Amino acid sequence: MLHTPGPVLVTGANGYVASWLVKALLERGVDVHATVRDPADPEKTGHLRAIAQGASGTLSLFRADLLDPAGFDRAMMECTLVFHTASPLIVRNVEDSMRDLVEPATRGTRHVLDAADRAPSVGRVVLTSSIVATYGDAADLEDVGKDRFDESHWNTTSNVRHQPYSYSKTLSERLAWEMAGRQDRWDLVAVNPGLVLGPGLSRHTKAEGVLVMRDFGNGYYRFGAPDLEFAIVDVRDVAEAHVRAGMLPDANGRHILVAGSRTLVKIGAVLRSHFGDDFPFPRRTVSNTAALMLASRRGIPQSVAKRNLGYPLRFDSGRANDALGMSFRPPEESIVDHFQQLLDDGLVKPMASR
Ligand code: NAP
Repeated sequence: MLHTPGPVLVTGANGYVASWLVKALLERGVDVHATVRDPADPEKTGHLRAIAQGASGTLSLFRADLLDPAGFDRAMMECTLVFHTASPLIVRNVEDSMRDLVEPATRGTRHVLDAADRAPSVGRVVLTSSIVATYGDAADLEDVGKDRFDESHWNTTSNVRHQPYSYSKTLSERLAWEMAGRQDRWDLVAVNPGLVLGPGLSRHTKAEGVLVMRDFGNGYYRFGAPDLEFAIVDVRDVAEAHVRAGMLPDANGRHILVAGSRTLVKIGAVLRSHFGDDFPFPRRTVSNTAALMLASRRGIPQSVAKRNLGYPLRFDSGRANDALGMSFRPPEESIVDHFQQLLDDGLVKPMASR
């Protein structure tokens, strides 16, 4: 039984994941306080205002930046539940890992949770963490003594130079548990999604999932794909898991959200079976030696490529099924729906029309 609270706060409400969460909440009749960096920017907030128009819940937009403690107190007023989703998601070509990832992620978490400490109405915080807070590289699985990662695992191998995005998410989640443990008025529930795929509610061309799917359409893998696996979950299921993590009275702890793992070649096969031969989808796996050369050209450090190429990447999402009652869409559905949206938006084009 879901408990429907008073107003709820969603940080980073315009993001790819958060937009689906805001939609799910508004359609359930929940009033949403939404923080964004610039409420007046129609490109960032237009889709949220449009969703709110037909919904039974109300939407109020607030300005807040992760680096600035001001802003969250006002947005959190009267809220019983806080969804903290905002965090920089940059995996490729990070200029300054400390400035661009670690600082905003950790300072933002501290600012939001400090505000929760000051807001007497808040009873629960749901943190959008990630599977990357449970592992650093796929090779880490060899050290955990199991065939898949689960909620008992923590990423101990990332740092500011090696996998800095993963490091930023690990530090943020650890900080959140530490801050939650220092008081007993609000409880913390974490959700740890895998690679999120599926259609977006805005034309968000830089979302990580969009970048991953574009590589399939633009010929990056035309001569073959590296031996890499992705652990995939659908954006609509991630939103639903957030709602349940926030509203199920007994929800607690961490929840891995992964529908299944697929290799790049398997993703190519799924796309070919649906979209045909008009796109340069990969047909074979390239050798790890060739993949290492490709990685260099892509700006992917050799240390990252070596610790992920050829290693399986598997997760146990049983806890999300049991504790949150989730049943995930198969990755094939997310892959096809996501590529279809890129096609509809003109972000990928069939070879014949280039
Ligand atoms: P996204 O679309 O890039 O959303 C990130 C949100 O964070 C945006 O609203 C962004 O605002 C906000 N943000 C970033 N830096 C900020 C700052 N300094 N101040 C205020 N807001 C800031 O990415 P997403 O995929 O929806 O990610 C949402 C959450 O899910 C993140 O915590 C991410 O780590 C987590 N996650 C994502 C995936 C995935 O595959 N997408 C997987 C696991 C976990 P702007 O639009 O103004 O930049």
